[in-house]
Amino acid sequence: MKKGGSGFARRLVAWFARARRPMPWRRAPSPYVCWLSEIMMQQTTYATVLPYYERFLARFPDVQALAAADERDVLKAWEGMGYYARARNLHKAAKRFASEGWPATAAEWASVPGVGPYTAAALASVLNGEHMPVVDGNVARVFARVWALDDDFHKLPARTRLAARLQPEIDRCAHPGDFNQAMMELGALVCTPANPSCVQCPLARDCAARKAGTQADYPRRPAKKALPVRKETAVVVSDARGRVLLVENTEGGLLKGLWELPSVEPREGQVQVFSHFRLELSVFQHEGKSAKFVDPHAVPLATSTRKVLAACGLL
Ligand code: SF4
Repeated sequence: MKKGGSGFARRLVAWFARARRPMPWRRAPSPYVCWLSEIMMQQTTYATVLPYYERFLARFPDVQALAAADERDVLKAWEGMGYYARARNLHKAAKRFASEGWPATAAEWASVPGVGPYTAAALASVLNGEHMPVVDGNVARVFARVWALDDDFHKLPARTRLAARLQPEIDRCAHPGDFNQAMMELGALVCTPANPSCVQCPLARDCAARKAGTQADYPRRPAKKALPVRKETAVVVSDARGRVLLVENTEGGLLKGLWELPSVEPREGQVQVFSHFRLELSVFQHEGKSAKFVDPHAVPLATSTRKVLAACGLL
């Protein structure tokens, strides 16, 4: 910490030195493992990421191996973590890094596919020592409580204002990466969404919400709109070799490159009268992309398809 550092930044970084989790990418931080872990941790918890991270790193030990891989293998290694655009962007960016080298500033990181302003700030502070505060959901929750902020942090202007308020604090730190990781770690471990552990918190004496007993009121949450419901019907057909009838999604969008169960549309039914009963046959038809029998273990599956096949005992 540089001379003149505020008590708050000092306490936060000192707490981090004691409480930080032994994440594998913190053991020997390199651009590859830091970048990979940041992308995996987007929208995903540490506990979920950990086994995927270990497997992914064993499969693609460095950026050259990832760059040289087939996209289908990258998606297969990512299977089950969701948000597959992350895996596609990771692969695309690996090709760039393998030929052009690693970004050196937050601005350069922000131009990488799949790296937003938050991830760019996190990587540039840890890898390049850049003094740029991160504002993710954890950080917003912590400081909404500490400073009793009423902002809606889903909106960019609120996050930008918070980053500006944190800037003088990180500017005082000799290791800005530690300051950023400390804020995120505090949100993940202590200042949790429900029941924050204020007695363990290095910011307790600064915290307006703790003093007022209003921790649960922050961050403010705008009323959620109900999601529209889309109903589809899918069929499960398997053969004696354990292969399943699947369709590869070759269109753009979130599920591109993944394999899904064929979806079907209702068609006019048929009625046939036999001597002892009357058969009423419901008819569904699959149209469009051609389905084929494939080994479901060998292709990257959409999450909904993986869940259905597991429930049917086919995985
Ligand atoms: S004192 Fe409590 S509410 Fe305030 S920042 Fe710490 S854990 Fe969060």
